Parts: sequence; structure tokens; C-alpha cells
Amino acid sequence: MNMMKKIVIKVGTSALTQGTQQLSRRSMLYLAQQIAELSGQGLEIALVSSGAVATGKGLFNHNASKQTLASIGQVRLMQSWAELFALFDLQIGQLLFSKEDFLETKELLTKETIRSLIRHKTIPVINEHDSVATEATALGNNDWLAALVAKLIGADTLILLTDQEGLFTTDPRHDPEAKLIPLVEAADEAVYVLAKGSSSSLGTGGMAAKMDAARIASAHGTQTVIASYRHPNVLIELASGKNIGTLVKAGRS
Ligand code: GLU
Repeated sequence: MNMMKKIVIKVGTSALTQGTQQLSRRSMLYLAQQIAELSGQGLEIALVSSGAVATGKGLFNHNASKQTLASIGQVRLMQSWAELFALFDLQIGQLLFSKEDFLETKELLTKETIRSLIRHKTIPVINEHDSVATEATALGNNDWLAALVAKLIGADTLILLTDQEGLFTTDPRHDPEAKLIPLVEAADEAVYVLAKGSSSSLGTGGMAAKMDAARIASAHGTQTVIASYRHPNVLIELASGKNIGTLVKAGRS
């Protein structure tokens, strides 16, 4: 694994809610603590956080659109992140992106805003702008969004934290013989076949989405790690060079 200096960390819904419709403050605290430690070591970090829609569902006792639920849940999500990072004297900045923010006409501003937050030792906390996204305009999943952010800011590493240990030879939830694949040289067709059908229940991205993200990242010189948020000190260990989960190598940028 190449050394990490500038990283994009994406945390999926299942990691943030532990499979419920409420945010797990314990999971979030654990992650905030690790991110604070890495930031203190001088790493540049952007966080892509899912969990708005699931949290909205838990808070709102009525039938409502995804947009409405995201609007309600996003507030609670950011409130929690702000409080937890404040415990480590870190400020956060919220960024809600749509597809158009990555188009040529707008990407400079998008990039500058993320970079400016990082420069000021503030953690950018990014999500899709779900409350105004339609099916046609939606980015779709946060794995992809995280890869676009990594590409834009020139991150060396993209870390996708999920409820599985990484990419397996078969679906580990159904096959006890499934084996973790520690290294993927290239996110090609063969890997997609393995990744298909292994989605987690609450988020929109499964392993196939993660491989898509890794492919975009790799094409722009960024390595991707898919790992479990449950692995003890996962972020600290990865930053110290340990091999955890599945590493998808960076291609030449
Ligand atoms: N943006 C969605 C949310 O915050 C999650 C998308 C995803 O799971 O990839 O609820």
C-alpha cells in the first residue's frame, strides 16, 4: 500500500446506524476520534457521510419521499458529527453536492471549497444533496460521490468503510467458504462478477458500487481500500501501512 497523505473516507449508512434507523453515536464517536488523530498527524482528510435518509426514516413517523427524509435526517446527521468532532477540537463544514457540482463549469469552485476547509484544519463532511435530487439528476450512491471527490482534490487514498471486511470470492453472508481478496490489481470485469449482488441492506451502494468507485479512483492515481468500520482502529492501522480489507491498487494517473 502506498503511503497516505490526502485521504477521502466514506462511511456508509450501515456503519453509521449499525443496521438500525438511528445514528449510532458510538460508531460515529469511534470514527471521529480516529479522524481527529490522523488530522493531528498532519493527514488531509475529507469525510463523505451517508446516513441522512435512514436517519430521516427513524425520525419522521409519516410516509414521505426520499427527498423529505433526507432533508430531516441530514440535520441530525450533521448535528451529531459537529458535536462529536468538537470533542476533539475539530470544526466541520457541510457540503451537499449534486451531479452538476462536478461538471467542468463548477468543479473549480467545488474543489476550492473542499481544499479551503482542509487548509483550515476543518473536516469537510460531504453528502449528496438528496433533498433536491431527482432520479434523473441524482449521483446515485456515495461510493461514487467519494470517488469523484477523491479525483477532484487529488487524494492518494480512498477508504470505503462498510459492514463487510472487504471483497470476497463469494458472498460471505451465504457462503462460509468465502475468502477475502486482499489485493485487486485492477478493477476489471472479473472483479465485477465477484462484487455483484453483495449489497448491504441500508445503503444504496453494494460491492459493485464500491468497485465502480475504485475503478474511477484507480484511473486517476488513487488507491482504494474497502474495509469494515468494525475493525479495531481501522483508520489508524491503515494509515500506518497495515493491510486491512481489500486494496485496489492505483493505476497510473
Ligand atoms: N446520500 C444517502 C444518505 O445520506 C446515502 C447514499 C448511499 O448510501 O450511497 O442517506
